[in-house]
Amino acid sequence: VSNGAALPSSVERLIEALSRLPGVGPRTAERLAFHLLRTPEPEALALAGAISAMRANTRPCAVCGHVSDEERCRICRDTSRDLGLLCVVEEALDLVAIERTGAFRGCYHVLNGALSPMSGIGPGQLRMKELFERIDAAAEGSPVREVIIATNPSPEGDVTLLYLQERLSAKVPSITSMARGLPFGADLQYADAVTILRSLEERRGVE
Ligand SMILES: [Zn+2]
Repeated sequence: VSNGAALPSSVERLIEALSRLPGVGPRTAERLAFHLLRTPEPEALALAGAISAMRANTRPCAVCGHVSDEERCRICRDTSRDLGLLCVVEEALDLVAIERTGAFRGCYHVLNGALSPMSGIGPGQLRMKELFERIDAAAEGSPVREVIIATNPSPEGDVTLLYLQERLSAKVPSITSMARGLPFGADLQYADAVTILRSLEERRGVE
């Protein structure tokens, strides 16, 4: 992405950084950069500050992998949550989408992706080991009764679902899936609350 010598290198650098964001092409990146050039300085710097502060003040929750500002995230610290009900999602944004319904009172586990043999993503690249260890550790105190596998309705989501079902069937009494309530190819994080609620309520055992 180059505009030749027409722009100062600092502007070029910002355009290049912006164009690496998802859904932002080179033309949009240019427009955003010029918008920031015209924006009052405090406002533009507030954006830079917000990015720095977010990166400095967040880390993955040590238990579930959700975005957190402490060692354990707000959900894992909430003692009213049902430890026996565990919902496995691909991304933290899927968790956010389910939380938006306000109907789920269990806990979560964020995998950070889905299995994809085509792209070489195996269990080792995801937070699978943490999930199995967590379920084993819970067996002592408050065992997990049900794992809801809320992977996306996609080929990768299905591979992940089957893998988890195979690995967890001996450890957990009930393994359910809510993917069937969502249209194939529709990401959980973009689904509306009513659709998510319905697929949660109509979750089925994985055969
Ligand atoms: Zn957590």
